[in-house]
Amino acid sequence: MNIILLGPPGAGKGTQAQRLVEHHGMRQLSTGDMLRAAVKAQSPVGLKARAVMERGELVSDEIVSELIDAELTAMGPETGAIFDGYPRTSAQALALDEILARHGRQLDHVIELEVDEDALVARITGRYACASCGEGYHDRFKQPEREGTCDRCGSHEFKRRPDDNEQTVRHRMAVYRAETAPILPGYETRGIVSRVDGMAPIETVTSEIDALLV
Ligand code: ADP
Ligand code: ADP
Ligand code: ZN
Repeated sequence: MNIILLGPPGAGKGTQAQRLVEHHGMRQLSTGDMLRAAVKAQSPVGLKARAVMERGELVSDEIVSELIDAELTAMGPETGAIFDGYPRTSAQALALDEILARHGRQLDHVIELEVDEDALVARITGRYACASCGEGYHDRFKQPEREGTCDRCGSHEFKRRPDDNEQTVRHRMAVYRAETAPILPGYETRGIVSRVDGMAPIETVTSEIDALLV
């Protein structure tokens, strides 16, 4: 099973990908996470990507497609893939088709999380994650059960992203509309797009996605 989670920043792609990993043993392939790891490691890719990400612009198609290709190579053919935050341009959508074909995989579903843009700023500015295991949280919408303690791993350290501020988010939304939304019609003609109401509670969104995957 190979699926793409599509939606603007804050739509809930990462949150749902983490839950699919737990429920279905699939693997989350988040180019955002891979790029942040590269920035942290100060690798050549990270050094190139850092300022671009802080501005809320897109890193080059070649860089992200190579990250995805390498990850699939490392995975082995039987593990399902959830593409989170990739593809984000028409060139990346083409590259993904080519990469999947080379790995003997095919795209089963493109799931679009439909959200109301006004809600996204609140989602993004309240977003944080466990510094140890990466579990995602929100100041209002998804607090840990015990304050200051990660539900999944018990860590007390949390982190916020430097690009999760209102100004950058508005720019990232505009980039989504201009560069990413236009890849949907191509998938539409292949009959693989499903829409899910991303404004519903987290658990409801997960159930709706689960229902599509059976
Ligand atoms: P994306 O990966 O699409 O950018 P995230 O999954 O990181 O989005 O979600 C953004 C923020 O909104 C996170 O803090 C997350 O906890 C919260 N969130 C995700 N889905 C929902 C939802 N259905 N309702 C309310 N808050 C949500
Ligand atoms: P969000 O879901 O909140 O938009 P991501 O974690 O997916 O955030 O991405 C963070 C940043 O990393 C993006 O704003 C962009 O600079 C870069 N990035 C992530 N994925 C891609 C991609 N597929 N193509 C180009 N840039 C990317
Ligand atoms: Zn944790």
